[in-house]
Amino acid sequence: MNRYSNQPILRTCNVCRKWFMAVAGSKYCSNGCHFRAHVLVADGCWCWTGSTNGIKNYGIFRMGRSGQKFYAHIFSYMLHKGVIPDKLQVLHRCDNPNCVKPSHLFLGTQDDNVKDMVGKGRHKYIAHLGEKNGNALLKTVDIIEIRRSTKTRRELAVQYGVTMRCIKAVRAKQNWKHVI
Ligand SMILES: [Zn+2]
Ligand SMILES: [Zn+2]
Repeated sequence: MNRYSNQPILRTCNVCRKWFMAVAGSKYCSNGCHFRAHVLVADGCWCWTGSTNGIKNYGIFRMGRSGQKFYAHIFSYMLHKGVIPDKLQVLHRCDNPNCVKPSHLFLGTQDDNVKDMVGKGRHKYIAHLGEKNGNALLKTVDIIEIRRSTKTRRELAVQYGVTMRCIKAVRAKQNWKHVI
């Protein structure tokens, strides 16, 4: 039996469309492109469409074949801006844990993190959520409708043009907590 494949596989990357030599099953030319495949690029926040760590809503990126897991916002920071010095954390200017937009991320200490949260207070946090956030696809009336509706997650996702994950989050009140 021949231990060698006849030819390597040449594919175009699903994200950047460049040609690359693919190992079996890979659709992306790099970990960076694999990452970008899960990002909804927008004028406002860039939402992470991959998995999250549940209620806190931080994006989780599983890299490569080993499936090593990283926080998506930290991965994004390193991908676009470079290394994170010791003892510093990647924080969000926008208070949206799910956001991975490089310009919304900055470095700070644990102390800064606490001060930042206290300084911003609950009021500003609420103002940022929902319709006032430029990235929001759903309006307050939609949220109320989704929570009342007896339709399935899939039906609602199609109707509103959002992901099923998003519908689930709305119903579980992970997002739009300020809407009853
Ligand atoms: Zn690529
Ligand atoms: Zn953001």
